[in-house]
Amino acid sequence: MAVPKRRTSKKVKRQRRTHFKLHVPGMVECSNCGELSRPHRVCKACGHYNGKEVVNS
Ligand SMILES: [Zn+2]
Repeated sequence: MAVPKRRTSKKVKRQRRTHFKLHVPGMVECSNCGELSRPHRVCKACGHYNGKEVVNS
């Protein structure tokens, strides 16, 4: 049976599965108003998409 050669340090143990939880994925800044919105969707704040106003609010 495989036996670990070295004891896992506290630092390495605490780093486990933390590096991909740092930010909410799939959020981009709107090019018009700078609000965070999902990519390939109309901005919720100003209704712009791809530099044009799509939704009149
Ligand atoms: Zn916007």
